[in-house]
Amino acid sequence: MRIVLLGPPGAGKGTQAQIIAGKLGVPAISTGDIFRANVSGQTDLGKQVKTYLDAGNLVPDEITVAMVKDRLAEADAESGFLLDGFPRSIPQAEQLRDSLTDLGQELDRVLELVVDEDELVRRLSGRRMIVDGKEVQRDDDKPETVRHRLHVYREQTAPVAGFYEGEGLLARIDAIGEIEEVTSRALRALGVDGNGEAGQPAAV
Ligand code: AMP
Repeated sequence: MRIVLLGPPGAGKGTQAQIIAGKLGVPAISTGDIFRANVSGQTDLGKQVKTYLDAGNLVPDEITVAMVKDRLAEADAESGFLLDGFPRSIPQAEQLRDSLTDLGQELDRVLELVVDEDELVRRLSGRRMIVDGKEVQRDDDKPETVRHRLHVYREQTAPVAGFYEGEGLLARIDAIGEIEEVTSRALRALGVDGNGEAGQPAAV
């Protein structure tokens, strides 16, 4: 299956992406994770994108789209993938469609995790990652940057859901609740049973 996972920062995309991709046996491809790995590895790409990540702004499309295109051409993504954090704007969605067409592929489903904004701010300000055994806050989870990231989401990324709704690919699920509960809703919306077998997509 070829899936896009949409949702605002703090909706639990990363967590759900790992679980769902594991059940489906496809790679979870997170543009945010790839960027962060490059920033901490101080690669050329990392140096190019660090200021955007720190400010909570989108990395320019020419960098992001080229990176995703290369990643999707790798062997493990040939029979399916789950994209987490991409596309984040209408131009990215259009360029993804073109890249997939070049590969002779198309998306099967787009899943949007829906969480209201008060809950997002609460989750993001309390969120911590473990790095080298220590609990740390992501630089872009600081309160001012969180507010800016939510603004960027509303302005640039929220319209992407409408784009996919127009293509008949969108399923929206309530992403408030226990992790397992949200995973079950997601699998149901994808028409997949708990064993990762694809069935008929649920009516949405
Ligand atoms: P995330 O981990 O998905 O919240 O992404 C963290 C940061 O990486 C974002 O705030 C952006 O700076 C950058 N980023 C991730 N995905 C994209 C994308 N599709 N387009 C542009 N920037 C992105």
